[in-house]
Amino acid sequence: MKQNSNQTIERWGIRYTGIVQGVGFRPLVSMWAHSLSLTGFVYNDSQGVYVEVQGYVGDLQLFLDAIQDDRPRLCRITSQTVQHLTIKDNEVEFSVKPSPLGEAVSTFISADTAPCDDCLKELEQDKRRKEYPFINCTNCGPRYTIIKSLPYDRERTTMDEFPMCEACKAEYEDIEGRRYRAEPNACSLCGPHYTLYKPNRTVV
Ligand SMILES: [Zn+2]
Ligand SMILES: [Zn+2]
Repeated sequence: MKQNSNQTIERWGIRYTGIVQGVGFRPLVSMWAHSLSLTGFVYNDSQGVYVEVQGYVGDLQLFLDAIQDDRPRLCRITSQTVQHLTIKDNEVEFSVKPSPLGEAVSTFISADTAPCDDCLKELEQDKRRKEYPFINCTNCGPRYTIIKSLPYDRERTTMDEFPMCEACKAEYEDIEGRRYRAEPNACSLCGPHYTLYKPNRTVV
């Protein structure tokens, strides 16, 4: 019996270039991979973002379309190339992998952006972030100014010095939330603060 081609399992390696780091791209990829029950992984590297996904061909195609249609606010994809790979037998889930290091860097980084509407709302009422000046999420906040080197991951930003509190860490790991893998994630308990001094060094 001839198998429906959409029911064939394949593995695709997808390379995205453009402004794809620090804009909520890996969370988007993970979310769609999970919701289409694809296995594989994603990571940031020196050229942009690399994804491997495995599943039914029909779902892989849906995945490609979803990523293009559902791009985060700051994301700009300039190219997408798909390579057919050999299927991996004992892979059971989709994961975010650490970035490989030590390659020549040729990716683009988003500029810093003003707080998004969700963050502005939080700024008025949230317990941990009420009037917290360094509020941010995957759709807004600092990027270029905090990056020390690439690929873009927290340990290579100036936020490295501010370990996340339990609550922030939970947000950072919550795949459904808008702070999943938001590298500058911080709150009034764990993040940076500022103080304004008069010339005589008394606090204003
Ligand atoms: Zn935001
Ligand atoms: Zn915190």
